[in-house]
Amino acid sequence: MKFNTKTIHAGVHPDPATGAIMTPIYQTSTYAQSAPGEHKGFEYSRTHNPTRTQLQDNLAALEGAKHGLCFSSGMAAIDAVVKLLAPGDEVVSTNDLYGGSYRIFTKIFEHYGIKFHFVDMGNLDEVKKCINAKTKLIWAETPTNPLLRIVDIEAISAIAKEAGALLCVDNTFASPYLQNPMKWGADIVMHSVTKYLNGHSDVVMGALVFDSDDLLERLSFIQNSCGGTPGPQDCFLVLRGIKTLHLRMQRHCENGKAVAHYLANHPKVSKVYWPGFESHPNHDVATRQMNDFGGMMSFTLHGDSIEEAHAVISKTKLFTLAESLGGVESLSGHPASMTHASIPKEEREKAGLKDSLIRLSVGIEDVDDLIEDLAQAIG
Ligand SMILES: *Cc1c(COP(=O)(O)O)cnc(C)c1O
Repeated sequence: MKFNTKTIHAGVHPDPATGAIMTPIYQTSTYAQSAPGEHKGFEYSRTHNPTRTQLQDNLAALEGAKHGLCFSSGMAAIDAVVKLLAPGDEVVSTNDLYGGSYRIFTKIFEHYGIKFHFVDMGNLDEVKKCINAKTKLIWAETPTNPLLRIVDIEAISAIAKEAGALLCVDNTFASPYLQNPMKWGADIVMHSVTKYLNGHSDVVMGALVFDSDDLLERLSFIQNSCGGTPGPQDCFLVLRGIKTLHLRMQRHCENGKAVAHYLANHPKVSKVYWPGFESHPNHDVATRQMNDFGGMMSFTLHGDSIEEAHAVISKTKLFTLAESLGGVESLSGHPASMTHASIPKEEREKAGLKDSLIRLSVGIEDVDDLIEDLAQAIG
């Protein structure tokens, strides 16, 4: 089955009881048993729920994986992966990381004796330097947030295999439409389903997909024991959102390309970070690893002050200033004062994150309106 068919059909089936075409919302916490322990595969909805099962199977298919597990947020999915580790274990992660991931690694899991290294994953020697016998997990994110750097998943996967460590890729920015990390050797793919997968900015959810039966046993044990599972109504909404993932992504990519080129030619813009430009330092990796370049980008202004950035983002009318990304509507964000505010300024600057950097999630509106909005805001 091709990707554009999987979004609609994979993992889902008409309801056996009624023939309902769309997956019903099984709004129930528990299930009747005919005798103790005799049931139809469902005992309690933290453990299994039929709406969630169909979504999990659909997500696995979209990444070309065997198994999928859904969580109540992207952070709950990340939490589950790190709980595979034990005190003393070490993790190598990218330094251009989603702020919430940096926070859970350093503010939660370091207290439990897990050590994190943050490196520039574009530099494979730097990654190798941090590897030792205790390295159990490599955590990659590509494209990275908010600088849209591209990590070569295949190269990092070779390092992970040699180290005997798991490679988990946060594929939120790309979505399975643009990139399937397991094809390049990732062991686990993590998604904030909240973003492109759901696509309508009305659900918070996370997911993990992978092939290994051993990981299924360990991660579903963590999922059930810790309990960060989504409800059936949200699973229904995400299944509904995913049915148009391919159409939305196609438009996000077209609009993204037009906006990136508009910004690159604007005299007040000093730099545009978008992997579709030939001048992007990882353009060739992006071309090989991704199917297209997406609608996420960042740009800086010549003055490079927080005030200048605030002036632009407060003037846009269609680009709404908000956290999050990947919805049908265009959003803007200012990482230094929003998503990355929890990363100390010195760390931000080390990672190349400038004060005037504005991040855009280009939506699927008419692109002429989007460009007109940016034109009047930048001035
Ligand atoms: C939003 C996001 C997360 C966290 O997901 P939530 O659904 O908000 O918990 C993790 N990684 C990336 C890249 C994200 O954009």
